[in-house]
Amino acid sequence: MTLDSLLSTPLQFLKGVGPRKAADLKRAGLLTVEDLFYRLPFRYEDRSRMQPIASLRPGVKAAVLGEIKSARLAITRRRGFKIFNAIVGDASGAIRCSWMNQAFLADILQPHLPVVIFGDVKLDSTGLHFLNPEYELVTEDISGVHTGRIVPFYEKAGSVTPNMQRKLVRHAIDRLPAELPDILPAELRARLHLVARRAAIDESHFPPNEASVDQLNAFRTPAQRRMIFEEFFLFQIGHAWRRHTSSMELKPFVPLVDDRIRAAAAKILPFKLTAGQRQAVKEIVDDMRQAQPMHRLLQGDVGAGKTIVALLAALVAMENGLQVAFMAPTEILAGQHYGNIVRLLFQSRFRVDLLTGSTPGLKKHTLHAQIERGTSNLIVGTHALVQDTIRFHKLGLVIIDEQHRFGVAQRAALRAKGLRPDVLLMTATPIPRTLALTDYSELDVSKIADLPPGRTPVRTWVKPESRRDEVYQLVRDELDRGRQAYVIYPLVEESEKIDLKSATEMADHLQAEVFPFYRVALLHGRMKSDAKDRIMHAFAGGQIHILVSTTVVEVGVDVPNASVMLVEHAERFGLSQLHQLRGRVGRGPWQSHCVLLYQAPWTDDARERLKALASTSDGFSIAERDLELRGPGDFFGTRQSGVPQLRTGDLARDREIMEEAHREARRIVSEGGLNAELLQFVQQRWQQQFGLIEVG
Ligand code: ADP
Ligand code: MG
Repeated sequence: MTLDSLLSTPLQFLKGVGPRKAADLKRAGLLTVEDLFYRLPFRYEDRSRMQPIASLRPGVKAAVLGEIKSARLAITRRRGFKIFNAIVGDASGAIRCSWMNQAFLADILQPHLPVVIFGDVKLDSTGLHFLNPEYELVTEDISGVHTGRIVPFYEKAGSVTPNMQRKLVRHAIDRLPAELPDILPAELRARLHLVARRAAIDESHFPPNEASVDQLNAFRTPAQRRMIFEEFFLFQIGHAWRRHTSSMELKPFVPLVDDRIRAAAAKILPFKLTAGQRQAVKEIVDDMRQAQPMHRLLQGDVGAGKTIVALLAALVAMENGLQVAFMAPTEILAGQHYGNIVRLLFQSRFRVDLLTGSTPGLKKHTLHAQIERGTSNLIVGTHALVQDTIRFHKLGLVIIDEQHRFGVAQRAALRAKGLRPDVLLMTATPIPRTLALTDYSELDVSKIADLPPGRTPVRTWVKPESRRDEVYQLVRDELDRGRQAYVIYPLVEESEKIDLKSATEMADHLQAEVFPFYRVALLHGRMKSDAKDRIMHAFAGGQIHILVSTTVVEVGVDVPNASVMLVEHAERFGLSQLHQLRGRVGRGPWQSHCVLLYQAPWTDDARERLKALASTSDGFSIAERDLELRGPGDFFGTRQSGVPQLRTGDLARDREIMEEAHREARRIVSEGGLNAELLQFVQQRWQQQFGLIEVG
C-alpha cells in the first residue's frame, strides 16, 4: 500500500471500526487515517512509573506491574449487579482491584497473567484497593498502549471510547513506513530544527517515557511543535501566495494628488483632524497613488472618527474622476452615512446617492443608469451595492464599514466582476493579534489610536435585575437634564418572536408606567426601512427620548445627545458587542453611562465578561479577552471571516508558532522558493481542511 493510500484510508476499513463507530468518528471530524494522526490528544497522563504495591497510599493515582493472583466474579444481592474482583501481586505485596458491572473482564483478566493496573488508590473498610482502574495485559515489553507509559487522551467521539481511539492510532502508526516524505522544505526543517514527520506523528501520540508531561500538556514538545507548525505553515503559505498574486495586479486608474485636491479636502473638513486621523489619511492616500490596488484595513475604536478619514479618501478618488462605493452593514447606518456625507459635500460638485435593498424599483432603475453613466460619483448603500446588476462607469474606491459583517465574499464578488478598485475596510472591533495573522495578514493596517478631543469616558455599571428601580432613576435623571437613552434588548435568532414580544412589551411598559412624560419608541430589525428611518431621525432630532431597540444600533449610529446605554440581559451579549454598544454613548461633552443589567443566576463566563467590560475601555484588550473567552469561531461568528478550522493548532495557545509560520511562509514566497508541489498541496488543503475559499 502506498503512503497516500494509507493516509487516505477511510477509518471504517480499520480493524474494529464498524459502520456505527465510523459514523461517530466522522461526526467528530475524523474520516481518514490521516485525520487520526493530525488530531492530537487533548491531554497526556504519566502512567510510566510503576510503583511497588507495598508503597501505595490512598488518594493517589498510581501504576503497578504485577501478576493476577486470583480473580472472581461476584453477583450482589441487587438484581443483576456484578462485581469483578482480582488480586494483583508483585514482589512487594498484593492489592485488590474491583470493577463494577464489567463481567466480561473475567474472560480477559485470568489468573497468572502479567498485567499493568492504573488508577486511583482507594481506602475503605475492606482496605486499600483500585476501583475501576485501567488495565492492560503485558505482552513482551511493558511499554503498552493504555498503561505503562505516558498515555494520550482523545476527545470523545460518540461510541468510540478513548481506549479504542488510542488503539486505532497505535495500529495506524505501526503501519507507517520508517521514513515519510515531508511536505515541509528541507532547508526550513533544518533551520528551524523541526522533527521529522514520522517521529513527530509517533511521539506526539505516544511520547517516549523521558518526555516531560508538563511540556506535553502545554503542547510544546518538539514533536507537537512540528505538527502544529506544519498545519500553520500550510495555512500561511495560502495567505502569502494570495497576497503575492494580488500584489502583481494593476489597477486600471491610478489617482494623482496635487495641491488643488489638497485644498478641496481641507475645505470640507468641519474640524481639525486628530494626529491618528492625519496619519491614517496619509497612509491611505499613499496607497491610492500606487499602481496596485489598495487593500487596507482602518482600525479605530468606536467614535475614533473613521468616517471622515474614509470621506477624504473618497474625495481624492472623485477629484480624479473616479466613482466611490461606500458600503455599510445595515440600512440605518447607510442612511446615516449618506446624511453626513451629503452635508459635508454640500458645497462640492459631486453627486452622492443612496442605494439600498429598499430603494423603490423605479428609483433604483434610474440610479443604476446614473451609476453606469458615471453621473453618480459616490454611492452609499448596503451590500446591494456589489450586486451583479450594477455596472459602474469608473469604480476607483470601495469603502466597507464594519467589514467583518461583509468579509471575503464581497471582495471576491468585486473581483469576479473584473473590478480592481482600491479597497478600504473599516472596523471598530480591533483584530486580536492572532487573528491579525490569519485572514487579515493580507491586509495593510492603519490604526487610529486617539479619540477626538473633549470626550468624557463612559461610566459602566453592572447591576442585577433586583436594582432595576435604581437604574430607572439614573435614566430619569439624565432625561431630566435633557439627554436621551438607548435601551437594548438582545435578539436571539431561535426565539426571535418571543424576544420581539418582550422588547415590544418593554417599550409599552416604559412608556405607560415608568416614563409617561417622555417619548419612548421601539426599533427592531423586522420593521420596514422607512419606518426605521423615521424613528432614527426622530431620535437623532431629539423628539424621541428613549429608543428601545434590538441590536440594530450595534454599529455606528451617532447621536451625541444620548448619554445612557441600558443593556437588558447583558449576560447574553459578547464582550465586543457590549463594547460596541457602549460606544454609542459618550459622544457629547457630558458624562455618559452604560448600564449592564443582568438576570441572575449568571454563569461564571458572563460574570467574567461583564467585569472585564467594566474594568477597561480599551477596545483592543477587550477584543483579546473576547477571543479568549469565546474562541475564534464565535468571535467573528462566520466561517467567511477567515478563521481556519484547525486540527492540531490552537490559535489562542499557539500564537508564537503562528507568528513563526507567518514569517517563514512570507519569506519563502517572496524569495521565490515556493515549489509547485507545495503550492498545489496547499491549494487542496485550503478547501478541504481549512474550509476556506480558494487561494487564488
Ligand atoms: P467611528 O470611528 O466610530 O466611525 P465617527 O466617524 O462616526 O466614528 O465619528 C464619531 C463622531 O466624532 C462624529 O460625530 C464625528 O463628527 C466626530 N469627529 C470625528 N473626528 C473628529 C475630530 N477630529 N474632531 C472632532 N470631532 C470629530
Ligand atoms: Mg463608524
